[in-house]
Amino acid sequence: MKKNKIKSAYWYQENLKKYRLGFLTYNLVIFSIVFILFSVALIFLAEERFFNSVHSDIIEIERSIDENSEILYSILEDDPRVSIVYYYANPKVGSIDSLINPKVTDFLIVGNIMREDITPIENIASEIDGVFRREKIRNHEYISFTTKTWKIMEIEGETQPSFVVRVKIYMNIDGELVAQDELKTTLMISTLIIILLGCTSSFLIMKRSMRPLKDFVEKQISFVSDASHELRTPLAIVQSKIENILANPTQNVYDVSEDLAISLKEISRLNKLTQELLTLARSDQNRLTYNFEKVNLNIVLNEIVEPFIEIASFEERTLEYKGEDIEAYVDKDKFRELIIILLDNALKYTNPNDTIIVTLKHGVFDVEIEVADTGIGISDETKKRIFERFYREDKTRSRETGGNGLGLSIAKTIVTDMKGKIFVDHNHPKGTVFTISLPKIKEKR
Ligand code: ADP
Repeated sequence: MKKNKIKSAYWYQENLKKYRLGFLTYNLVIFSIVFILFSVALIFLAEERFFNSVHSDIIEIERSIDENSEILYSILEDDPRVSIVYYYANPKVGSIDSLINPKVTDFLIVGNIMREDITPIENIASEIDGVFRREKIRNHEYISFTTKTWKIMEIEGETQPSFVVRVKIYMNIDGELVAQDELKTTLMISTLIIILLGCTSSFLIMKRSMRPLKDFVEKQISFVSDASHELRTPLAIVQSKIENILANPTQNVYDVSEDLAISLKEISRLNKLTQELLTLARSDQNRLTYNFEKVNLNIVLNEIVEPFIEIASFEERTLEYKGEDIEAYVDKDKFRELIIILLDNALKYTNPNDTIIVTLKHGVFDVEIEVADTGIGISDETKKRIFERFYREDKTRSRETGGNGLGLSIAKTIVTDMKGKIFVDHNHPKGTVFTISLPKIKEKR
């Protein structure tokens, strides 16, 4: 039985490229076939039209030869494409044979074709009439047509009426052929352009539509490698500390207290990291649950900030809260988690004597919560990437303060799930300001 193997993110990354190439080739082939068929059909139709119109012109001339010589003369005068060759014979009076099978004695050309360019018909019986034929005379292309005429005719330039046995019409088609060639070239160029445009546009559309998938796969790969890297460091520290302790089993707890304290710190770091990873994994699977309720944000924020004021003053920072009574729909626990992430960071990335101000106020269209500090601030590069998973501007400082670079990604996830937005900017004259914008409660009228 074929096993349904779960594919890795690397598999998707590799196969995305192949899939894209396959899709492009497929598009190129389909586009080419469709447009080539279309062009061939168009050329075929145009050719039909050209020749149909030439044939009907010739038939028109044939009719005027039979019926109306005035029309014929005007055609000959107006249309330089037409040449007419009259073959005539002088049958012996009374000879039936000469009437049935007359010998061509001479011919006359009216039109642009020169006499020396014509191979005269010798045997009238062998000349098939009523058929359109392509002929080349001195690098010019013609369609010729031999009529069935048998009659005594007055021919221009001849003094005596002659017994005309055949009339051959030549229609020059150089113009048509040039037009046809031009059409073919234009069609070929436009087919090429359309194929190129089609492929470029399908490439761009596909690249755009695959972008989210590509980003997701890339993020997944770097997430897994970053996560394992982050887990490895504390585990390695704990392992080495325990090995230290075991190397001297006679030591008492006091002697190994430093190793134990470091191990404990790393374990609590691991604990925090796995908790954060779990939150993000749940959010990726849309499994984070929210209990939205209408709350007075002023009261909730006061409760959250209160204990931090003491911590801040202990760490020689000033923390202030300014708020007005504003209600919003939030999940209280998640909201608390969000504010704690920002306050934690504000304390981590400030120095003694710095100030942190938390503000709750009405925006024009939203409710705004600001956490502004006068701390170390952020670079423009960090500003762009600060909400990415595992992103840390200064990894050593972050490690010292126990940061994993996941706090702000979780903050963003929570804000987005609460239909809000979170921004970061430089605080003036120094420091950083985070602004959370939450939707206002719509008042019923
Ligand atoms: P960490 O757990 O490392 O603090 P976060 O996702 O919370 O991870 O923050 C990501 C990075 O953003 C930090 O490593 C730090 O470089 C920067 N950062 C976050 N908050 C602040 C702040 N208030 N001031 C300056 N830099 C900050």
